[in-house]
Amino acid sequence: MAVRPGRRKGVHRFRTAIGALVVALTAGAAVALPAAPADAAGSGAKVVYLTFDDGPSTAYTPKVLNVLARYGVHATFFEIGENVSAHPSVTSQVARQGHSVQNHSWSHPDLRRLSASSVNSQVTKTDRAIRAQTGRTPSCLRPPYGGVNASVRSRAAALGKQVVLWSVDPQDWARPGAGAIESRVLRNVRPGSVILMHDGGGDRSQTVAALPTIISTLKARGYSFGVLCR
Ligand SMILES: [Zn+2]
Repeated sequence: MAVRPGRRKGVHRFRTAIGALVVALTAGAAVALPAAPADAAGSGAKVVYLTFDDGPSTAYTPKVLNVLARYGVHATFFEIGENVSAHPSVTSQVARQGHSVQNHSWSHPDLRRLSASSVNSQVTKTDRAIRAQTGRTPSCLRPPYGGVNASVRSRAAALGKQVVLWSVDPQDWARPGAGAIESRVLRNVRPGSVILMHDGGGDRSQTVAALPTIISTLKARGYSFGVLCR
């Protein structure tokens, strides 16, 4: 899960449409994000979205939750169905603490390489596992590796899912050091940014270590923290 193809660092542009944010990534994938909360609808609203992928993890998810609770902010967790199945109580803890739990597939394949029925099974099995712990069916899908094309998009839409990628990627999964994770986020963040980090899939201690500085600096800059997909 730590191996990611492609480079997704650069964001060429983003713009705020009416109630929706469209993000154009270097790879050329333009993805409509879910409608932003009312307080983010006006242009220039200083809201950012923290997102955590590849959990839940018994080692790191509770640490991420502790930091978020300490600062009183909420985030969106894109969880892998297999991990939900292995650690269901961590998923229910994430939801109980007011965070959004969304779908990141069952076993983290590149959905572009799968048949329609395999994509359906990846998504619906994960939906069921999450719903069993949270009481809510995810409304969003983040395809592993950001791997989207026209067929992934249409298959997601047929399952009622909005596809959500990100606009700021500090590549925390590569463990560049907590300081690098902090500076990559803080240098690139803009109003409306969706920040990609990881609470599962490997040693995430650097991500946990970077979070307090990221959150406190963004707060000092006047940002608030929004939750996606509900
Ligand atoms: Zn992932």
